[in-house]
Amino acid sequence: MKSPAEDTAESELVLPRDEMLALAERAVELVVERLERLPHEPAWRGATRADLEASLREPAPEEGRPALQVLERAATDILPVASRVDHPRFFAFVPGSATWPGVLADFLCGGHNTFQGTWLSASGPSQVELVVLDWFKDWIGYPDTAGGLFTSGGSAASLDAFVAAREAAGAPERATVYMSDQSHSALIRAATIVGIRPERVRKVPTDRFFRLDMGELATAVAEDRAAGFHPVAVCGNAGATNTGAVDPLLAMADFCESERIWLHVDGAYGAFAVLAEKGRKLLAGLERADSIAMDPHKWLFQPFEAGCLLVKDVARLEAAFTVQPEYLQDTQWGREHANFSDRGLQLTRQFRALKVWMSIQTFGVAAFRRAVGKGIELAERAEEYVRASHWLEIANPASLGVVCFRYNPLGSGYDADRLEALNKKVQARVIETGTAMMSSTRLRGSYSLRFCILNHQTTWQDVRETLEAIERFGQELDAS
Ligand SMILES: *Cc1c(COP(=O)(O)O)cnc(C)c1O
Repeated sequence: MKSPAEDTAESELVLPRDEMLALAERAVELVVERLERLPHEPAWRGATRADLEASLREPAPEEGRPALQVLERAATDILPVASRVDHPRFFAFVPGSATWPGVLADFLCGGHNTFQGTWLSASGPSQVELVVLDWFKDWIGYPDTAGGLFTSGGSAASLDAFVAAREAAGAPERATVYMSDQSHSALIRAATIVGIRPERVRKVPTDRFFRLDMGELATAVAEDRAAGFHPVAVCGNAGATNTGAVDPLLAMADFCESERIWLHVDGAYGAFAVLAEKGRKLLAGLERADSIAMDPHKWLFQPFEAGCLLVKDVARLEAAFTVQPEYLQDTQWGREHANFSDRGLQLTRQFRALKVWMSIQTFGVAAFRRAVGKGIELAERAEEYVRASHWLEIANPASLGVVCFRYNPLGSGYDADRLEALNKKVQARVIETGTAMMSSTRLRGSYSLRFCILNHQTTWQDVRETLEAIERFGQELDAS
């Protein structure tokens, strides 16, 4: 140990060049090998707290260990003990399958330690964030006045949107927001954070395909106004997580315009469907929203974290977030030079736009259009399969890559409890046997299996074989 007095310029926190290169090479090899093995491994792995306590509990070591050993341990004992969200047969929740240029972009940003908060600190990266946001604006059909920022995900994007909406409404005391009974829990959390109590978050009923009911929305807003409340935002789904439902965005836009209420669309998983022709049609009216949350880490095939918020008039976003303290006075380069920290919560920010930029540059937009379109089509094919099956029934038709169904033999006459018990067992067996990873949900209280098919490497064979296994397991479990 050196005493501070005899300090030289040498840091103890560096590695020799050869070792840096060797370690990086090994890290890359481990990840590439993982990707090669992935389709042959189960889509889910996990362990109990007790198991992991035994293998991972330890005090922080006072002295270091060989870096290669540390790396190998992370790659064998820690990282694989997790869901393989990027597995071609991962149909649960909302899958994410990263492209390699995006993975490398994250590494490059870490290596450059990019501080993407102000133009002064990151001019090139800021310009690229503007460029990528302009691509998104173009895909959506947003005007030049639109702008936004990359965020950690859809939750943060919707939170920032609510701040902008609340400020645009004059930050009223008795604020309310409106969303369908299918809207994501992230929106309720975002409302809580901006100071809107859960009891003032109005859950608007939906129609039989789980789309927000316009009549119910109009009634709720009118009643609230009469009772002295101040509606600050209406939220539409562009792909509700539960069912893939798309709310009537055009009608909502008309309503919000005449009522002068901010329309926020949660397209966290679904908005990039605009890249495919079918998706674009389904999402008609998206461009009329005041703000849109969309997650490149879902249907634009980027590694976590990559979310995005676009606001139709970016000045309203900046009006809500800009604070200019003295110690940041050097960062003001004028209007042309966006400081992304003035558009959201974070000052210190990762340069998330680079992953999208590198992926799109490498593969081209056309390849992404096809990949998104494939997810939509595979879910539709799954629906066709289920409709033709004697063993399965549709619980809600395919929409934006999501399809809900259950095991229920034709003419079985089973009641809801029996079906629920049976389907729970089927789902458990699908996961236990390593066939696939899938999750369940409830649709108006009825238990349903659910596929979300967004992985760019998923094939019809993956989907069909899983459906066949569900039919088979259902019959076996029903007989036993
Ligand atoms: C995933 C998702 C969210 C939450 O986004 P995060 O990226 O997880 O923060 C919100 N809404 C919908 C519709 C989603 O699919």
